[in-house]
Amino acid sequence: MRDLLGGKGAGLAEMTRLGLPVPPGFTITTKACNAYSKSGRFPPGLLKEVFKGLASIEAKVGRKFGDPENPFLVSVRSGAKFSMPGMMDTILNLGLNDATVGALARQTSNDRFAWDAYRRLIALFGRIVKEIEGRKFESILDGFKGRTEGKEDSDLTADMLRSIVEEFKGLYRSEVGEPFPQDPETQLREAIGAVFRSWNGKRAVDYRNFSKIPHTLGTAANVQTMVFGNMGTDSGTGVAFTRNPSTGEKVLFGEFLPDAQGEDVVAGIRTPMNIAQMREKFPDAYGEFARAAELLEKHYRDIQDIELTVERGRLWILQTRSGKRSARAAVKIAIDMAREGLISRKEAILRVEPAHVIQLLLPQFDEKAKLAARREGRYLAKGLNASPGAAAGFAIFDPNEAESLGRDEKKPVVLVRVETSPDDVHGILHSKGVLTARGGATSHAAVVTRGLGIPCVAGCESIVVDFDEGEFRVGEKIVHRGDFVSIDGSSGEVYEGHIPTIEPDFAKEVDLQTLLEWADEERRLQVWANADYPRDAKRAREFGAQGIGLDRTEHMFMETDRLDIMHEMILAAPEYRRVSTEVRTLQAEIESTRADRRRVLEERLARLEPNLQDLSRRYIGSLEKLERLQKGDFVGILRAMAGLPVIIRLIDPPLHEFLPKYETLLVQVTKLTLARGNPDVLQRAARSDEDQAFLEEVKKAGGGDIGRGIEALLPRKQLLLEAVAASRETNPMLGLRGCRLGIMFPEITEMQVRAIFEAACQLAKEGLDVKPEVMIPLAGHVNELKVEREALEREARKVMEREGVRVNYKFGTMIEIPRAALTADEIAKHAEFFSFGTNDLTQTTLGYSRDDAEGKFLLDYVERGILPHNPFQTLDREGVGALMRMCVQKGRKVRKDLEVGICGEHGGDPASIELCHELGLDYVSCSPFRVPVARLAAAHAKLRNEVQRPEDR
Ligand code: ADP
Ligand code: MG
Ligand code: MG
Repeated sequence: MRDLLGGKGAGLAEMTRLGLPVPPGFTITTKACNAYSKSGRFPPGLLKEVFKGLASIEAKVGRKFGDPENPFLVSVRSGAKFSMPGMMDTILNLGLNDATVGALARQTSNDRFAWDAYRRLIALFGRIVKEIEGRKFESILDGFKGRTEGKEDSDLTADMLRSIVEEFKGLYRSEVGEPFPQDPETQLREAIGAVFRSWNGKRAVDYRNFSKIPHTLGTAANVQTMVFGNMGTDSGTGVAFTRNPSTGEKVLFGEFLPDAQGEDVVAGIRTPMNIAQMREKFPDAYGEFARAAELLEKHYRDIQDIELTVERGRLWILQTRSGKRSARAAVKIAIDMAREGLISRKEAILRVEPAHVIQLLLPQFDEKAKLAARREGRYLAKGLNASPGAAAGFAIFDPNEAESLGRDEKKPVVLVRVETSPDDVHGILHSKGVLTARGGATSHAAVVTRGLGIPCVAGCESIVVDFDEGEFRVGEKIVHRGDFVSIDGSSGEVYEGHIPTIEPDFAKEVDLQTLLEWADEERRLQVWANADYPRDAKRAREFGAQGIGLDRTEHMFMETDRLDIMHEMILAAPEYRRVSTEVRTLQAEIESTRADRRRVLEERLARLEPNLQDLSRRYIGSLEKLERLQKGDFVGILRAMAGLPVIIRLIDPPLHEFLPKYETLLVQVTKLTLARGNPDVLQRAARSDEDQAFLEEVKKAGGGDIGRGIEALLPRKQLLLEAVAASRETNPMLGLRGCRLGIMFPEITEMQVRAIFEAACQLAKEGLDVKPEVMIPLAGHVNELKVEREALEREARKVMEREGVRVNYKFGTMIEIPRAALTADEIAKHAEFFSFGTNDLTQTTLGYSRDDAEGKFLLDYVERGILPHNPFQTLDREGVGALMRMCVQKGRKVRKDLEVGICGEHGGDPASIELCHELGLDYVSCSPFRVPVARLAAAHAKLRNEVQRPEDR
């Protein structure tokens, strides 16, 4: 019904059927609109139908349209299947002309009212049907208002309104080239055409693009008898919700404006009374309205947003629709309605959107403080609300500085950039919020911050960011590096100074918790979390995580106290590998060779051995240090997750990610070389913060003396530069990383496995139930997995034997190379679990390097509709999804109890979660703060096809 009649038309028909006081009318279907859009003409027979409809209204009201003695007026109202508030047009007071205006005045004994209605018609009709600029009518009106005492609409006298009508008609004639149509039927016909045309107006088209509403639906046109809220003090108009749309509280909520017509409430020309006051002033109409509201809510089983008008004490209802509501209200209303028995629990779950849950769990500004800031003139600008939540912190322009200030939550930082790039991520990670001057909803800043749950205002065009000066400007105002700023990622607003935030508290969100518990009963998919640190794991558990799907061990290597050990290890590794291979070859040769040659070989071996010892001390020695540290990490996370599975991924990124950047080193070595024998140069040339930091490093190396520092540092930096140069890769994403590392440098992954099992055994001895699962990343060929697993499981067994405990463990792999998915049956023979690493799997399947793609063309692709969405945000169902499907089927054929999950960022994306549900995955794993959203989305995925959603949502 809504397809044909539109939401408004269907609502009006339904309310009439329910016996509610709806002004008589009829609806012209969307089909007629679509025909009109195609040909520019009404389909044959339509006008006949229209006048038949009009005749039936005439019969009901006992008056005639256009009758100069006893007329009635109509409105033509647009209304599509999905509510597009204010995006299309409605014309009121049709049927008025020079003759009927007099009759209306006599009928109502109100001259002023009749002429006011007439001037409104001419302006509306001129603007909407003939596209005359609205401000031309306004300026005439303003001219008259200026001559009154109060300077308001309501101060205009009947005589003034009569003159205004004359001037409006004059304007109309000069703009259109013909007089305002006096024939009511012509007015009606033209109004219907204009309403149809408004479907393709710019406003409407933009709105549909944004809200993903198909352009083919068309709008209906509702022709309806006019009722008037502006007939004096016993009349009025209002809008009300059946419950409070911001808190969800079950009370009528709305506004009522006495002696006013339609749009006046929205336009805010006078301050309306709240609906509770209407109860005192209009007790009868109020009582009737309250009953109607209750009836409508029961009928539609959802909160209703209702338009009402009181004409001389008599109530009329003009529209009803599902009310838009805040996140908090959505949850409360769903729970309350389920408890009232109005809807089922399943429906309640479906009534809350994943976005609502996200919003409830973000820090928000204290609204009062925000208002105060505005009053104090601290409002700066408005950009795109790219990632919701509120943040306040020191404005910092350099990602490195953001990192060093913000690390470990030392200081709150808001990172301000023209736009962000992958090189800024380390800074973003340690910021409370991000503000950019350029970029849209899928810009790097927007995508990254949404993924991390960091508030972001992007594309704030009115700020000018000056990185070199360390400031940004908005008009006259300048915000310097280190000044406090507050950004609201939910609204896009930017303020100077500090606005206090209200931190979300999951424990206090009782309604949300109830709803999620209901969702847990429904969902089949488990929800796990990605967590690298015990504190994240604990938080995830509080949010309801049922396991850790990804513990990235390399984050632990990145910590400052460990980086030096890492450097030492990485620098020695290739050399150790080369020399130890040579030693082994020599030893084998010595065994099998003739005695006379043996001497020569033994001498060579003897020469190598000290070298190997030294390398071993550096390489194996560093690994031993790291092993102790890693064991501590694993004890922490396994303890926090006792009783639940924890998937630990072995080292994944290329080793050079742990080393300084090649470019940085090159610059430093060059500077040091130039400054030899001339140390002042270094001091004089130190301008940027980075230069200063380097100078400090040199001083430190020389015990306070720059000259000595240069001599000490240069050889070290040179060595590092050589190592970095040697390990540089053209294409690191496809280079020496993942399981390839463990195969080339087995000592590293063996160390990690020992650390995992030492930790597990220690906790098992304490009586804890630990479930470590060792994940080997980036396998593409089954042999990679075979080799790795054999070597690693051997280490695991050794530890358990030594410790005399057995722990429950699994070995498995990540699926992130298409070849692994294609040969999943082979792979599954050697893996007890699969985890889709959908970030890499998307990169390798589409052949995009994410960092390059998002920076260069992906945005354009999405904007131009070449791709339906960013595949790094929502799983590419047809491509990556197809690979996943095949992988699950093949894998489970070989191993029935194969555990399959997903640990990419997609694990927290509702649309991707739905796909995972369909593919029969066991779990999705996402960042801890996404766990509640994922719990809901997993239930939605299951219920979506099971429960019919209310028609009008
Ligand atoms: P929108 O979809 O933009 O809300 P509407 O068709 O609801 O547009 O109309 C705009 C305003 O005019 C509303 O306030 C509505 O109540 C009022 N209105 C529309 N038709 C009538 C009518 N027949 N009698 C009185 N008021 C009307
Ligand atoms: Mg409306
Ligand atoms: Mg990966």
